[in-house]
Amino acid sequence: MGRITLDKVTKSFGSTEVIPPLDLTIEDGEFTVFVGPSGCGKSTLLRLIAGLEDVSSGQIRIDGADATRVPPAKRGLSMVFQSYALYPHMSVKKNIAFPLRMAKMDPAEIERRVSEAASVLNLTDYLDRRPGQLSGGQRQRVAIGRAIVREPSAFLFDEPLSNLDAALRVGMRMEISELHKKLQTTMIYVTHDQVEAMTMADKIVVLRAGYIEQVGSPLELYKAPRNLFVASFIGSPK
Ligand code: ADP
Ligand code: MG
Repeated sequence: MGRITLDKVTKSFGSTEVIPPLDLTIEDGEFTVFVGPSGCGKSTLLRLIAGLEDVSSGQIRIDGADATRVPPAKRGLSMVFQSYALYPHMSVKKNIAFPLRMAKMDPAEIERRVSEAASVLNLTDYLDRRPGQLSGGQRQRVAIGRAIVREPSAFLFDEPLSNLDAALRVGMRMEISELHKKLQTTMIYVTHDQVEAMTMADKIVVLRAGYIEQVGSPLELYKAPRNLFVASFIGSPK
């Protein structure tokens, strides 16, 4: 489960149309990267999928069902925020468990899910620490843990590594790719970083001013960029 379809989706803020009619299908289990320059609408598109913004027109379907008017908490998707969204006064364990406690889930089930997420993310030894006692990479893993415990049909990442230093970013990139291999869950990953897009994606969606310029695998985009914008953005020798 985790197939997401956008059908003629548009978004305007006031009289400014940020997303012109856009069609896109994200297949179940796929790692899709939205890439494009700052201000091209990547976050807006992700927030529309998450339900954090309402579409101005068009339809969003998740696993075949119309989700256009479904509130964010009921879409079965988990958004991963940057690690600074952690609660500094709570332990790692409580931070990870937070969305499940809010949903009033059975404590034994919460315990099970938190242990499982901690094990997948190598955080088992850090559950009693507070975010301030962790490295940047560990904090980012806690933020991901909080998304995992909800057992979503898709993960949505909005530039999750942009406030980490360069060396850590490379490591986290590999960790997120590993996580995708382990979980086999649909992931949509937003970045303005071409290298992240090229190294992590099954499928890249290149955006420019709200339009999709091209969709394809990293190799397809590299070998056959549709235009100069894609070529220069991807860094291919066209
Ligand atoms: P990106 O994530 O690719 O940098 P955004 O999706 O954040 O781009 O923004 C796309 C465009 O929409 C920008 O021109 C931005 O100023 C505008 N925008 C985003 N959110 C709002 C908002 N809440 N109100 C008005 N304009 C917005
Ligand atoms: Mg953004």
